[in-house]
Amino acid sequence: MGNIVALIRRMVECESPSDSPAALDQFVSLISAELAEMAQIRNFRNGHLTAEFALPGSKKRGQILVLGHSDTVWPLGTLARMPFRQERGRLWGPGVLDMKSGLAFFIFAMRALRALDIPVSKKVALQLNADEETGSHTSRALTENAARRSEMVLVLEPGTGLEGRLKTARKGVGVYRIAVHGKASHAGVDFAAGASAIVELARQIERIAGFSNASRGITVNPGVISGGTRSNVVAAEAAVEVDIRVARLKDAPALDRKFRGLRPFDKRCAIEVTGGLNRPPMERSPGIRQLFSRARELAREIGVEVEESATGGGSDGNFTAALGVPTLDGLGGLGEGAHALNESVLIDRIADRTALLAKLVAGS
Ligand SMILES: [Zn+2]
Repeated sequence: MGNIVALIRRMVECESPSDSPAALDQFVSLISAELAEMAQIRNFRNGHLTAEFALPGSKKRGQILVLGHSDTVWPLGTLARMPFRQERGRLWGPGVLDMKSGLAFFIFAMRALRALDIPVSKKVALQLNADEETGSHTSRALTENAARRSEMVLVLEPGTGLEGRLKTARKGVGVYRIAVHGKASHAGVDFAAGASAIVELARQIERIAGFSNASRGITVNPGVISGGTRSNVVAAEAAVEVDIRVARLKDAPALDRKFRGLRPFDKRCAIEVTGGLNRPPMERSPGIRQLFSRARELAREIGVEVEESATGGGSDGNFTAALGVPTLDGLGGLGEGAHALNESVLIDRIADRTALLAKLVAGS
């Protein structure tokens, strides 16, 4: 156990924000060095990596794809105020839960299979993406190609809650930007000549907020607004960025039509809508249910009860599930505070989660 904690510490202390290629490179080198003795590694542009494992057992049929990401939401220098700590039964630090501990569990699970010479009947590949926290724009195609060659996908994102429920459903995520183009004028001298983009946008935002539908799991959040230049100028420009979440893929086109169909209240203003869904939802398919049941059985063999959960947050598992490949997510750390100051993982649940990963890989 000491070794796995030491590895998690080294990983946390090697900061890897999405927007720092040099830091990400260092982190990917650290992981590559850990994997070198047991996997064939391929590096891709933008810091993405694929590792194909050499595991016991002769004939390999089919592939298990394991998904992880090397990037975190924490900017360089976060360690100075939020150093790695081991206290109160937890490991603390930026990225420890999302998802450096999950990566460490998987590395140790593969080491255990090799050390114990436990045969594995499928090929096992790890896809480690460097842009997950910013939407996976450059890694998506790699993930999807790898998924198409795989029978199942295991995702090393943290579990839900301190009890680490596995994730069998995730909402789809999208972003829209609505820009309003009005007409500027002097607010005192020539007020009537202006068409305020801000007033128009405010009315549109009211309308957009009404697209949410709690019973269908649709949320629409105007999260960032901008506009105007000075208080004494009728604003010519204003814009809003809107986060959308859908539980079902079939709800996305109707929502998209609502955005595209926005028309100005003030005919002198023009509305421009861009964006859309960028992660499809991971819907609880029969294949996902089956994979979860298998995981629950395997967890019971090691004396642990695992539950399942649905979340509004997306992961790279959304892409693989949308291709119809059974995907089980939330297999990483148990803890709390992802993307928050109290980010931490429970030390006494490291062993059983690592064992569950090994059993899922060996027993599938
Ligand atoms: Zn994550």
